[in-house]
Amino acid sequence: MADFAWSLGSPSLRLGVTGLSRAGKTVFITALIHNLTHGGRLPMFEPWRAGRLLGADIRPQLHPDVPTFDYRGHVRKLTDARVWPDSTRQISELRLTIAYESATFLGRSLGRGKLDLDIVDYPGEWLLDLPLLSKDYRAFSSETLERGREPRRTAIAADWLAHTSGVDPLGPADDEAAGRLHELFAAYLGAARGGSLALSMVPPGRFLMPGDLAGSPALTFAPLDLPESGEAPRDSLWALMESRFEAYKDVVVRPFFRTHFARLDRQVVLVDVLAALNGGREALVDLEMALGEILGCFRPGRSSWLGQVLTRRIDRILFAATKADHLHHASHDRLELILRRLTDRAIARASFSGAEVDVKALAAVRATREATVRRNGESLPCILGVPQEGELLDDHLYDGKEEIALFPGDLPDNPQALFRPPEAGEPGFDALRFLRFRPPPLEVTAEGVSLSLPHIRLDRALDFLIGDRLA
Ligand code: GDP
Repeated sequence: MADFAWSLGSPSLRLGVTGLSRAGKTVFITALIHNLTHGGRLPMFEPWRAGRLLGADIRPQLHPDVPTFDYRGHVRKLTDARVWPDSTRQISELRLTIAYESATFLGRSLGRGKLDLDIVDYPGEWLLDLPLLSKDYRAFSSETLERGREPRRTAIAADWLAHTSGVDPLGPADDEAAGRLHELFAAYLGAARGGSLALSMVPPGRFLMPGDLAGSPALTFAPLDLPESGEAPRDSLWALMESRFEAYKDVVVRPFFRTHFARLDRQVVLVDVLAALNGGREALVDLEMALGEILGCFRPGRSSWLGQVLTRRIDRILFAATKADHLHHASHDRLELILRRLTDRAIARASFSGAEVDVKALAAVRATREATVRRNGESLPCILGVPQEGELLDDHLYDGKEEIALFPGDLPDNPQALFRPPEAGEPGFDALRFLRFRPPPLEVTAEGVSLSLPHIRLDRALDFLIGDRLA
């Protein structure tokens, strides 16, 4: 990765945007850029409120070997076709140059301020690979097989585990056998992540998000049921898998952390708490564990491998619960509380003395409006929106055209309740109803000007992430 000389000069800030797949990274970055370049309403973003935000422009990004974030393509989909853009599959980057007026007299006397904001989008799954660096193939194999044998995973792990137990690790180093095992293992990981389980802890991260490395030997391995002791015999399947596991660490995991992760100044971690709520208590507990692993990456021990390659220190981290527009605003604070509960222990454990950590609930794109509907003499706080084509609720299949009012249910005001079995009379997870809605139409003013994408609390996120750098 080459830094060009012309990048020197104006101050720059590298903002990492991550989160597990479908957390909302693509939508978040697109909405952030759209709001900053189209005069979005951002009252909780101090530079905007003070009238000091002068504008923002997309500029060529600095790294010829990193794909550019496809902002224009994503906006066209969101605003013209009113469909959600394609999700993040690999790392990409975009530079936004923000012009502002300084808040201080001295600053203003120096002229217009300029901040180059480099936004780096990458899959959160890649962060879950860090713990692999301190494991050997034997430990990886036994932990992964053990996790696959947990009762809640039996259904999705059955084919892979059955095949694995029929494979002799001491047998010949057969490429095809390795490929077949990998295929079944990757299918199991995909099923754990997707579907109703919605689990988060599914390393190795690249098996689900391979980027441009799909099909390469470093990505074609799987755990084996190894003998209790001994070493891999030469030319055995065990030796082949072990060497690929080590290659994965060397050519995939370490380069990502060294080249991309180590250069970030600030980080936002997006979290789809609602999907985990839909997945039930197990999914929530699993998400908590994954967030703990992710947080661990930001505070590695000094003597650890990552601690030694970090060239700068991330000084602000925002955990943001996305898609808050699926809830009535009365529940937004509760959503934030649940995410706080999910990250509290990890934050305390990692003792973040150097970095400021905040937690917020937001919707980068607000696809719903709110209304109160009276039913059976009761007022229900509802959301209005057009469900995506193919969404199903109570046996009704939506066609992507009709607008509906939905009572999504209330989140509990005590998040603790979600982490233990419900007591008598307490609503369980089933009481929550979420649907995917189509992106909203853009509002047009009386003068015919299209407004920027509507959002919920995106301005608060911006204020925390970059507000101080526009002072
Ligand atoms: P990524 O995998 O992290 O890049 O996730 P995306 O940004 O592609 O988001 C995944 C899906 O979540 C989208 O296709 C939308 O259906 C939904 N989504 C993301 N952000 C929002 C939001 O702010 N509001 C709503 N209603 N849906 C969202």
